[in-house]
This record gives sequence, structure tokens and C-alpha cells, in this order.
Amino acid sequence: MRFIFNLIIVLSTINLSYAKDFENKFNFPGGIYIQEINSRQFNLGLDYKGERVPTVQKNNKFYMIFGIPHSYNDNTEMAKLGYNGGHFIINPVSKKRTYGEQYIRISKKYTEPSKSNIERILKEKYELDNIKKKWVLKDFDTDFILPVIGTISGQFGTRRFYNGKEGNFHNGVDFAANIGTHIVSPSSGVVLMTGDFFYNGKFVYIDHGMNAKSIFIHMDETTVKVGDVVKKGELIGYVGNTGKSTGPHLHWSLTLNAVYVDPMIFVNNSLFD
Ligand SMILES: [Zn+2]
Repeated sequence: MRFIFNLIIVLSTINLSYAKDFENKFNFPGGIYIQEINSRQFNLGLDYKGERVPTVQKNNKFYMIFGIPHSYNDNTEMAKLGYNGGHFIINPVSKKRTYGEQYIRISKKYTEPSKSNIERILKEKYELDNIKKKWVLKDFDTDFILPVIGTISGQFGTRRFYNGKEGNFHNGVDFAANIGTHIVSPSSGVVLMTGDFFYNGKFVYIDHGMNAKSIFIHMDETTVKVGDVVKKGELIGYVGNTGKSTGPHLHWSLTLNAVYVDPMIFVNNSLFD
């Protein structure tokens, strides 16, 4: 009897391991939630608040990679994902991550911009918001490399205080490096926009495919133009200190389904192995 009982336990364990879901490691606020989806959902495309959720095909399976909003606090937050003809609800967060604080002193030019600069800021925001809706590439290579060799000087997700007043959370990662250090594209992509904006300074905005996009800001010089196809590791510009910056560094932000996530999750990390 005991033998049969043990056998049942063993069999049910095997059965469970077959049915096991994808094991998420980064499902905290500002992280990602990966779930297997069916071929129909993959072909139709999933969206979250009208924004495409990145999907990939790996080892004959289909997965979505949902960008979890930084504002999600705990495992009570639900997200509704729609596709043509249906929707489903996910409960993406099951891990905690605490984010620190950073205090920055910066020129008043940026914290209390002049009237003419406010006009410029609004115009540039409008231009960038229009491009943010765009994505063209269908392939998303999730195995990223570092865009620059430097020291991390600002983590993703920290609360930021500028001259003592709280601003937006830090929506990317900062690498301190000398002016002129090479910046490369961390994954393949297409250049959506380049420019020289009030806050960003010189920047490059890249579509990595399936609505996964990176922006690199405060550059000294950019070496690509709109429409350029870039390979992983290809030069896109040089580290600088332009725009709202307090020293030479690269700021890199990554969005999935228009939600900022910690870019370091994708660096030297084979998510599906
Ligand atoms: Zn930054």
C-alpha cells in the first residue's frame, strides 16, 4: 500500500513538472513577466492598454514578455491583456524589489526652465511621443550585451530628488564613462529617431522589434541616422555630458509595451535557456 502511495506521489510529481509554467525570475515591479501563449495569440498579437506586448518564438514555443509597470507595488496588481477576439488577466508580480533614493544637485535651468525653454520642452515631448507609438521590426533578440564599458552610477527604479525636490523615478540605468567612450547597440534594431533635445541632449532611439525599444541619451555625438539598421554591437555614438546631465555618462532606458523596465535584466542573460 505504502509503495503504491509513493508511486502515486512520484507519478503526480512527474505530471506536475510537465505542466510547469515558465519559471519567472524577474517578475517584480519594473521587471518582466514571461508566460507561454498559444500560436493564435502569438499570430494575432497581444496588447496592454493599446500597446503591443512583446512576443517571441523559442524552441517551438511562443511566449509573451510583459513589461511590468514600476508603479505596481505587490502581487495584488492585475493586468488585462487583449487580443483580437479575447482577453486574459495576468497577475505578474510575485517578487519584491526595493528601490533606493538618489539626491542630485543640478542647474536651475533644468528644474525651473525659462518660458522659451518650456516651449522647446513641450515641442520636443510632442515629437518624441509621436515616435514612441511606432515600431516596425518583427524580430526581438532578447540576448543583450552592454551598450558601453563603464561603471553603473545610477540604478533603474530609484526615487530621484533634484535639488531636494522629488522628480520622476529613474527610468533607466546610468553608466559613468569618459567622454568619447564608444556606445554600441545592445541588441539588433532600427533607428527610430535621433536628435539634440533640452533634457536628453544628443540621443538615439532604437526599435529592437515587437515594441521593445531603447533610448540612449546625453551623448557627445551620434553616429547613426533614422532608418539605419543596426546590428548588436554596432557603434551608435559616443558618451557625453549633454542635456540634463551632471557628468559624463550614458543613460539607457528600455521599454516593453511602453513600460519602462530595468534594461540590465536583458544583459548577458539568456532568458529562455
Ligand atoms: Zn539616468
